[in-house]
Amino acid sequence: MSPLLSVSDLRTQFSTDRGQVKAVDGVDLEVREGETVGLVGESGSGKSVTALSTMGLVDDPGEIVSGSVELTDSDLAATFRERYDSPSFVDGDTVDLTDAPEEALRFIRGQEISMIFQDPMTSLNPSVTVGEQVAESLRLHQYGGRRKDSWFNAVREILPKISRDIDEDVRERTIEVLEDVGIPEPGARIDEYPHEFSGGMRQRVLIAIALACQPDLLVADEPTTALDVTIQAQILDLIDGLQEDLGMSVLMITHDLGVVAETCDRVAVMYAGEIVEEGPVEEIFGNPSHPYTYTLLESLPSEEKDRLTPIEGNVPDLVDMPDGCHFAPRCPWATEECTSGEIPFLQHGGDDVDHRAKCILEDFDESEYGSEGLAADADHRLRDEPLVELDGLRKYYDQEDGILDRFLGGNGRSVKAVDGVDFTVYRGETLGLVGESGCGKSTAGRALLHLTEPTGGRVLFAGTDLTELDGSALRDTRKDLQMIFQDPLSSLDPRQTVGATVREPLDIHDLPESDPSVGTEAEVTVSGIARDRVDVTVGDEIDAVVGSGGGVATAHVTVTVVDDEVDVEVREHLGVDASVDRTDRGEIERVSVTLSAGDTDRLRRRRRVRQLLEAVGLEVGQYDRYPHEMSGGQRQRVGIARALAVDPEFIVADEPVSALDVSVQAQILNLMEELQDRFDLTYLFIAHDLSVVRHISDRVAVMYLGEIVEVAPTDELFADPMHPYTQALLSAIPEPDPTADTDDRIILEGDVPSPTNPPSGCHFRTRCPKVIPPEEMDIDQEAYREVMDFRQRVERRSIDVDTARETAAGDGRRVAEDGRTATTDGGAASTDAVAAALRESQFDRFPEGKPGETVDRALRLVAEGDWEGAESLLADRFTSICEREPPTLDGEKHPAACHLVE
Ligand code: SF4
Ligand code: SF4
Repeated sequence: MSPLLSVSDLRTQFSTDRGQVKAVDGVDLEVREGETVGLVGESGSGKSVTALSTMGLVDDPGEIVSGSVELTDSDLAATFRERYDSPSFVDGDTVDLTDAPEEALRFIRGQEISMIFQDPMTSLNPSVTVGEQVAESLRLHQYGGRRKDSWFNAVREILPKISRDIDEDVRERTIEVLEDVGIPEPGARIDEYPHEFSGGMRQRVLIAIALACQPDLLVADEPTTALDVTIQAQILDLIDGLQEDLGMSVLMITHDLGVVAETCDRVAVMYAGEIVEEGPVEEIFGNPSHPYTYTLLESLPSEEKDRLTPIEGNVPDLVDMPDGCHFAPRCPWATEECTSGEIPFLQHGGDDVDHRAKCILEDFDESEYGSEGLAADADHRLRDEPLVELDGLRKYYDQEDGILDRFLGGNGRSVKAVDGVDFTVYRGETLGLVGESGCGKSTAGRALLHLTEPTGGRVLFAGTDLTELDGSALRDTRKDLQMIFQDPLSSLDPRQTVGATVREPLDIHDLPESDPSVGTEAEVTVSGIARDRVDVTVGDEIDAVVGSGGGVATAHVTVTVVDDEVDVEVREHLGVDASVDRTDRGEIERVSVTLSAGDTDRLRRRRRVRQLLEAVGLEVGQYDRYPHEMSGGQRQRVGIARALAVDPEFIVADEPVSALDVSVQAQILNLMEELQDRFDLTYLFIAHDLSVVRHISDRVAVMYLGEIVEVAPTDELFADPMHPYTQALLSAIPEPDPTADTDDRIILEGDVPSPTNPPSGCHFRTRCPKVIPPEEMDIDQEAYREVMDFRQRVERRSIDVDTARETAAGDGRRVAEDGRTATTDGGAASTDAVAAALRESQFDRFPEGKPGETVDRALRLVAEGDWEGAESLLADRFTSICEREPPTLDGEKHPAACHLVE
């Protein structure tokens, strides 16, 4: 394969008050024709800036300070030779993008290189129809229109000003492009606005805009990061298919190693502005040869690892990078040699393999890595004692909750965010709660804690019904139930120091106070003196400072005697009073140590906060820091310390690691497991990342559209998922293993339906690949699924009959049975011809026999515009048990709410 894009020694810097930020620091990268190259790395590694630099889209205060970006394309080179007089930026078939004038770059962007971004909502113009946004990209690049500025900005800028009428050619091509990216009924949806599309559909529109002109290179910057795993599977499948059809190259920028393993041919790993390793995807995952790549892969959660191995430390400051290897301060194999001079790229793998790593080592000893620390002993923790029981918990939001709605009277419909949830969390366990966005998992967590008032149902905590408690009793009990939030930056007050943030719950609840039922003990270590000559007295109240695990508060005391001098160290932040009795000769007779929590509330609170900071792995010196002075991982540690401040028994952790890079994620997951053991905590762990949930949870509950559909011990759920939704969810997880077989992946169609009006019977029936046909009907299950999809489109009136009519008229289709022509005298298509065109556009697998005849009748009714008739005919003939009866979540150990399981 010949190179399409070649980046050499690229350096991009940003001028700041603190100095030059070296975001891209000497990058060499090649993307060949037709291949997908993954550019991976954690936040701040420079991968997105590399992509923007290749497209000439770096804005002030950024600047490409050296290096070249070359695109090899003979047609493009010829075009520029025609347009410009002896262009200096063209050499043979190669165009140098770093040297090309802005006008030439505009031509290239969109036409030769397109980009898709992470968040489709902010990348699309909300005030312009999706059809117009795709059409404008076509007009700019294929139909002669030209604008100032970059093509993408040009699209956004021009759209509100142009006419909503899309001329015929462009309209036809727009529909085709939207169809290519899997927008159902594009002819009918072309005039809709972005907010009328789901997240997955908006990402498809963005891909349509990028691909409208069939570029040679697609730069996809975190294209699935904002999407659920099921929708991510759809989008990756789509990009893969389009790449094959169009033969384009893809530069896939992502932090998700699973996505890379599944989609890429080659991978470049970035760290602190540099590419540190590059090679074929199988080599990078099977034979990682740079310590950073190796440690990054080791920090991923997996079923084999009891304890994760995070990369210690943080990414260096890009203003002040260490000499020599940038990874040296964190590298377990660093030597003196690594900290100065230029680090060479060494070749790895066989002679025929193009695999290089920027490290002085040919090899490193992996057995030295990752053996520290004990695995959390899950069996030791688990008990059969229910701590939290949800019984039919409901949380509905009235749609007229908005002020305007109330003023206008509203429509009175409820959003059933949580719709009758039952589950039990046992003392000492972690129950994972998973499901797509909008399934109600976070609302369930908040309603459980009464942070939002439940609409109905009961929440029992240690046998007490929280729904029956009044204000102060509820407040008292609620201190035993705490929450850890997703985004530590927005959940912390930016004006409060770390110390004040952690202390606040103590002030609110007038804590710390001692629990009389908690015992106290000291673990004493002595040296230089006999143990029986050391007395340690532990105050009853030290649990107020150190917290308790399993009903006991433990202090750790070390007494050391050297040369008749006594040194007493106490690991916890307690008041220490030590006295030494000596004989007449001055020899030490007895050492007495008394530990206390402190006499005043102020002192106790301060000690408690220090204790908590240490417990979560922060330094006590960080007490006076502000959130913005800390890294994401440190901020999440503050959030955890705050939750622990009141010595809770139960914690709802709502996506606690989803905003963190994998290496930091591993630190926080380990910390949560350690704290669980130490303080005897019980967790409800809410997350959409199933690998994380698999790692940390003892059991998992799966939620869909406000209901629990399956609960099982983690291993069992992953080995043998019973509910079709769970099966689809698990099969969509991208595995960080390029050799994994994904052929039998279940790609769910469509999005989660609106919780305002959930489907009757089983809520999942509108997407379920296994939906059960009516008992008496002779129909193939897959054909039945298609009939149900058709029926849903009829109910939504979202079938594009106009396009079918045009197709039928254009084809002049003949209908065999009676010899009539498809078009009438006026050129309009006959009903049968329109129905035939609809049948072709709506079905891959048309049902045979009687069911097929019924569908044909419905198609004709749709062709005549009789939607109600079609709807009632289909409902009458194709309703099955999945629609009539809600399945129940029965069974002890592994219940699943599906009629197939019953
Ligand atoms: S050069 Fe040295 S510090 Fe850098 S990755 Fe290799 S061994 Fe580690
Ligand atoms: S009850 Fe029917 S629709 Fe629901 S999951 Fe089971 S088979 Fe699918």
